[in-house]
Amino acid sequence: MSAEGADLDAVVVGAGPNGLAAAVTLARAGLHVRVYERADRAGGGAATRELTLPGFHHDVCSAVHPLAFESRFFREFGLRDRVEFVTPDLSYAHPLDGGRAALAYRDLARTRDELGRDGRAYESLMGPLVRHATRVADFTGSPLLRVPTDPVTAATFGVRALEQGSAAWNLRFREDAAPALLTGVAAHTILSQPSVAAAGAGLALGAYAHARGWPIPIGGSQAIVDALVADLRAHGGELVLDHDITSLAQLPPARLRMLDVTPRALLRLAGDAAPSRYRRALESFRYGGAVAKVDFALSAPVPWADPDVRAAGTVHVGGTRAEVAAAENQVNRGRLPERPYVLVSQPSLFDASRAPAGRHVLWTYTHVPTGSDVDRREAVTAQIERFAPGFRDTILATSSRTAVDVERHNPNYPGGDIAAGAPTLWQMVRRPVFSVDPWRTPIPGVYLASASAPPGPGVHGLVGWFAARSALRHEFGRRALPDLSPGA
Ligand SMILES: Cc1cc2nc3c(=O)[nH]c(=O)nc-3n(C[C@H](O)[C@H](O)[C@H](O)COP(=O)(O)OP(=O)(O)OC[C@H]3O[C@@H](n4cnc5c(N)ncnc54)[C@H](O)[C@@H]3O)c2cc1C
Repeated sequence: MSAEGADLDAVVVGAGPNGLAAAVTLARAGLHVRVYERADRAGGGAATRELTLPGFHHDVCSAVHPLAFESRFFREFGLRDRVEFVTPDLSYAHPLDGGRAALAYRDLARTRDELGRDGRAYESLMGPLVRHATRVADFTGSPLLRVPTDPVTAATFGVRALEQGSAAWNLRFREDAAPALLTGVAAHTILSQPSVAAAGAGLALGAYAHARGWPIPIGGSQAIVDALVADLRAHGGELVLDHDITSLAQLPPARLRMLDVTPRALLRLAGDAAPSRYRRALESFRYGGAVAKVDFALSAPVPWADPDVRAAGTVHVGGTRAEVAAAENQVNRGRLPERPYVLVSQPSLFDASRAPAGRHVLWTYTHVPTGSDVDRREAVTAQIERFAPGFRDTILATSSRTAVDVERHNPNYPGGDIAAGAPTLWQMVRRPVFSVDPWRTPIPGVYLASASAPPGPGVHGLVGWFAARSALRHEFGRRALPDLSPGA
């Protein structure tokens, strides 16, 4: 680490999407910024590497980016002009037994038409959210403690989240396809089902799926991070890799210290500098359910029994709404479900650069209790085989990581919790403290810029952007936001 730091305005710990979003915003404001990252590459939860065989480029964590087009930070940053995305017409599919599947197209009318008797009920639930998807993104992408700038959208959204998060969630439906579609996407949260927080996240993600789709970056998630790093460097920022920061005292002098770490890690870094009330609040922050990740190198595309599923960007595997809910509720009670819910994506269907000609990468993960050290390779393989007979014969190689491995790879996921703190309703209001400015800590010049702060998990950069905005105002007296657009 360079001892030179006298001219630094800001130091950022952690080069995940949020740390980099903060660094870019600060550098664009004319500050001298340096980022320290413990890994040998920037990216955190958005990295792409050869995990199985040479030439097979797997997303280590995130793969599909519903928020890439919706996040206000990425809109201001002009991400679509900097990274090439492919957006499948079929955002996600949900296979059911008997060779059937529920399909969520970008086109809501087509989705309605293929949902049969429940098509109209699904359309009336999703339609208002899809028509105002950007407003939904701005509402859900803001701290819940702030008064919504668009109360009508907030109310429209809230009523639907209450319905789909309650025992009344099946009342409007008569068949199993539409409910499966909704629970498949709500289950991304790893929360109990039904619950208002899970339903809210699911409805927002569903609205983006039908509005602009769920984009996949060409070259993998790393492309998003590379764009952020390039912009940081173009504006005088520095990135120092292979540096695990263990104490704030280790950092060079700078007026601002921005931390892309969990509250638990913040307390370790701060030591005695954290006032006892703040320490107690952070110690009571709860981490949630975890993931086990399984990546496959395949000789051919997954042979889904319903051929329509083969065109999906994401596949939610796990069966009916009741089955997925039962599996998720078991995980939340600390048990491993025999037939788990599995998230699946095959980016090489849309991006030939991801695997050798004719071959494929398959990205999957499944939910497990926090801190699980069980290898879920076989459970994931069996669930996919259930809906895609012959899948096993296509497997060339596998890379499997338990929840414990996930944390070892990145300490921002304690016990394998990829949300960096359970995204329950309460913890979305109090994330990680009850404040209208939760990014600013009581430690002078120290800010929290990780998914443990609002608006929570996902590759959107919004936490870093909010934290940088707060720091610019409080530490540097600047209210005007820097222009982040590619040409500026
Ligand atoms: C398996 C998996 C699948 C996911 N799938 C998706 C998806 O498909 N779509 C989506 O939008 N989101 C997905 N996510 C969630 C998303 O990746 C995270 O919410 C997002 O990356 C959070 O960004 P962040 O910057 O807050 O933290 P991170 O991305 O975790 O970055 C934190 C960075 O800080 C570094 N760091 C931590 N402590 C220190 C230290 N003391 N010193 C130096 N460096 C440090 C870490 O090494 C890391 O690089 C997934 C996550 C995982 C793990």
